[in-house]
Amino acid sequence: MSIQCIIQTIKSYDTIIIHRHVRPDPDAVGSQAGLKEIIRRSFPDKNVYIAGEGDSSLDFLASMDGIDDHTYKGALVIACDTANAARIDDQRYNMGEKLIKIDHHPEVDSYGDVMWVDTSASSTCEMIYDLCQHAKNDGFVFSDEAARLIYAGIVGDTGRFLFPSTTKKTFQHAAELVTYNFDRPNLYDGIYNIKENIAKLQGYILQQFELSGSGLSTVKLTKELMDKYRVSPNETGQLVGVLGNIEGIKAWVLFIEEEDIIRVRLRSKGPAINEIAAKYNGGGHPMASGATVETWEETDKVIKDLNQVCLNYKA
Ligand code: AMP
Repeated sequence: MSIQCIIQTIKSYDTIIIHRHVRPDPDAVGSQAGLKEIIRRSFPDKNVYIAGEGDSSLDFLASMDGIDDHTYKGALVIACDTANAARIDDQRYNMGEKLIKIDHHPEVDSYGDVMWVDTSASSTCEMIYDLCQHAKNDGFVFSDEAARLIYAGIVGDTGRFLFPSTTKKTFQHAAELVTYNFDRPNLYDGIYNIKENIAKLQGYILQQFELSGSGLSTVKLTKELMDKYRVSPNETGQLVGVLGNIEGIKAWVLFIEEEDIIRVRLRSKGPAINEIAAKYNGGGHPMASGATVETWEETDKVIKDLNQVCLNYKA
């Protein structure tokens, strides 16, 4: 079973480098840094690193390690929360001796020597907690800091236990995690507090949005608009949920204009939208996906496809 194989593989390596996806979220960093914390606590002699570009909005969770290329020689690399190899941050993930994939997204790429993909898990953090539970007899220990990181990822990816991906197991894990000593209000502040300019752009979106007859809403964030509100493309993660409670909405999409691409952030309350994401160079979950297009003309095609799935959808 892959979970046992992962436990034994972790035990057998002295150097372990943990990656996650580009444009990280609390589940990506929480699973990555949570796993590092667990391994370090359990096996203090191992060298464990977390790789990828830092994101200042997630500094409250963990800071990335600077890693030389030669550190990868003979190392075990673990990629957390990333369905496709092209989205692993950074791309040195394949310079190690062995590669493990741990993820809860629908499979896009079968990369890695060992793969553990569980799409029934609410989050990769939920899987990391499972892993630690299974590994208790192998010397794995948990800590307050691991609980903080893992809890952050579960809260982040379930939308505070709101999304349908939240299961009995998610709540059971959460119930155990809150028995550890960490500052929950402070953690929530880190995840949910937003800057004034983001709040103002949220207000703009709520003022301007329109709902089509099919139940689709489309938001176009041009470079000009984001400059006006001084919001960076990475910060738009804090805007994407803003339309979720509008009565009658079935799906919505944010188009975010970057230097040479337009990022597509898709969300749904019913129709599966990940196949549309896959059609436009992306992927993700049925209710939360992302993609990339090159031109505004192409965004019209995405809107047409989304309208169609909304029209076809029967609750
Ligand atoms: P986001 O809007 O960035 O929060 O992404 C929502 C979900 O879609 C997350 O599970 C991401 O991992 C996934 N996702 C976003 N962009 C892409 C992409 N270009 N390719 C594959 N999956 C993506």
